[in-house]
Amino acid sequence: MREAGRIVGLAKLEVANAIKPGVTTSFLDEITEESIRAEGAIPSFKGYGDPQNPFPASICVSVNEEIVHGIPGDRVINNGDIISVDFGAIWKGLHADSAFTLGVGTISDDAAKLIETTRLSLEKGIEKVTIGNRIGDICYAIQNYAETEGYSLVRHYVGHGIGYSMHEEPQVPNWGMEPGLGPILKEGMAIAIEPMLNIGTYKTKILNDGWTVATEDGELSAHFEDTVLITDRGPVVTTRI
Ligand code: MG
Ligand code: MG
Repeated sequence: MREAGRIVGLAKLEVANAIKPGVTTSFLDEITEESIRAEGAIPSFKGYGDPQNPFPASICVSVNEEIVHGIPGDRVINNGDIISVDFGAIWKGLHADSAFTLGVGTISDDAAKLIETTRLSLEKGIEKVTIGNRIGDICYAIQNYAETEGYSLVRHYVGHGIGYSMHEEPQVPNWGMEPGLGPILKEGMAIAIEPMLNIGTYKTKILNDGWTVATEDGELSAHFEDTVLITDRGPVVTTRI
């Protein structure tokens, strides 16, 4: 799992470097897929989901009010946009899953604060990853921080256990759990923690492509995710290098 995470971490750096005004979201998809395959891994998002409407690309790319599950295409990235990129890789059958949001060129102060608070809310969750803690400890830390800073948390989409499948038990919600409650964290587990913060309402809608999730009110959203191992030395964040 650490190797899957390293491969995802490397691809994150490469795609982040490619995010510039004038590039298309499908170009970002190509960069990421090439990076993952060059390391001998497989992009896990491609073909994921309902066989009638499988996800068609290696990354989800969600722009501005889009939250998650955006499909790469001809859309050109502009100065001032905020771009969320979410993807995973499989190495020797084991998964890693990660996401980040990046501002393009000059972004508004509101957008910059949203991104930084979302990044820090993930850190608050990771700090609670200790053997014997519970999923509610992670959830509460994220929610308490994000709401204190004035943001809403997406409720319908949650983090997850991860291993030989991308999505395993337990669910790791970002909202609505009390500390000390929920599944217990045990050595050897791995979880993907992934807060999604909105400036406006927590409510979401699905766009006509059947995949892209956006804020109901059109306000900005940001997303950070890492795959974290639970060890006797504390949390090990696999998806950063
Ligand atoms: Mg995930
Ligand atoms: Mg993800």
